Amino acid sequence: MNTTEILSALPTPCYVIDEAALINNLEILQKVEEKSGCHVLLAQKAFSNYKTYPLISKYISGTTASGLYEARLAHEEMPGTMIHVFSPAYKEKDLEELLTFCDHIVFNSFSQWKHFREKASEHPEVSFGLRINPEYSEIETDIYNPCFANSRLGITLANFEENELEGISGLHFHTMCEQGAYTLERTLAVVEEKFGKYLYNMKWLNFGGGHHITKPDYDVDKLVDMIRHIKEKYDLEVFIEPGEAVAIDAGFLVCTVLDLTINGMELAIVDTSAACHMPDVLEMPYRPFIIGSGKPGEKQFTYRLGGPTCLAGDVIGDYSFDSPLLVGDKLVFTDMAMYTTVKNNTFNGMPLPSIWILHRNGETELLRKFGYDDFKNRL
Ligand SMILES: *Cc1c(COP(=O)(O)O)cnc(C)c1O
Repeated sequence: MNTTEILSALPTPCYVIDEAALINNLEILQKVEEKSGCHVLLAQKAFSNYKTYPLISKYISGTTASGLYEARLAHEEMPGTMIHVFSPAYKEKDLEELLTFCDHIVFNSFSQWKHFREKASEHPEVSFGLRINPEYSEIETDIYNPCFANSRLGITLANFEENELEGISGLHFHTMCEQGAYTLERTLAVVEEKFGKYLYNMKWLNFGGGHHITKPDYDVDKLVDMIRHIKEKYDLEVFIEPGEAVAIDAGFLVCTVLDLTINGMELAIVDTSAACHMPDVLEMPYRPFIIGSGKPGEKQFTYRLGGPTCLAGDVIGDYSFDSPLLVGDKLVFTDMAMYTTVKNNTFNGMPLPSIWILHRNGETELLRKFGYDDFKNRL
């Protein structure tokens, strides 16, 4: 059986993590660590399927978290690895707990740092950092651009209180999204120009996420050179915290065609929803790929695919196929491991897709399934 046949045999809707593809990504990231001497941390906000954490921990140094829950997940499920956390603002109680098991805690402002500095000083085993905003980003979608006007993320040079750095041992920037090594190069030039003088006194610099390292056209050698350059020049450790790069192209979403109708064009309703199961399709927005499909009009039979919710805009996209779709057909979306299982929801009472893993040997294993109680328990 080929992969599509294996996947089509599963009950839908379901996500399927592709173990071989995940390992492929992790091998690339492991090489980056080895060649550059940096630490690669999985940004859990992109992918938190913790049953794969034992596997992930064999390849990279650890994880980063957006707050207490993700950090705790890493502490429980990837014990003994590096845990880094950044939050735009910490609550008192959360910070107290984070102090007991995180390696690095990054603050978003000098006011938060000053507020927690005393508490922090009781934990010499934890290293503290500040997120800077270099005010340079090549991201064109504002919702994903931490440097857009009046952004709350990170401290700009004008607001950098250089007399309040005692106890701070690292800086963090995150200004990229799905970008290459040349964007990083231009960003680093700005970071160095604005904040370089502070880097000499730091123990680490975190380059954030958004590095498309595991895409075939990414210039890994260039990344390695830049990391080595920064490490040597300022005598510090470098962290990178990719989310996408860990889980890109490492999963599927399988669905079934429920109905076929016509309104000016052929329409298909499937048992998965853009709004509930792949929200980035509407948020980014983008058109996910379906195995065996073409662009509209490219193959003989074109359909607009939509979900079974009442949201008019719950449209996944337009696709063409070599043969007409039939009720009951299975369709397989690719690149569905990242920003899906962490972002899905039960709007309209939609069932959550079960989560499977396709092992390297071709066997499928159910990791998690959901039912009515998962809908009800959140309300
Ligand atoms: C989103 C985010 C990441 C991960 O970004 P990817 O685009 O998934 O690589 C890393 N760090 C921070 C601070 C983020 O907000």
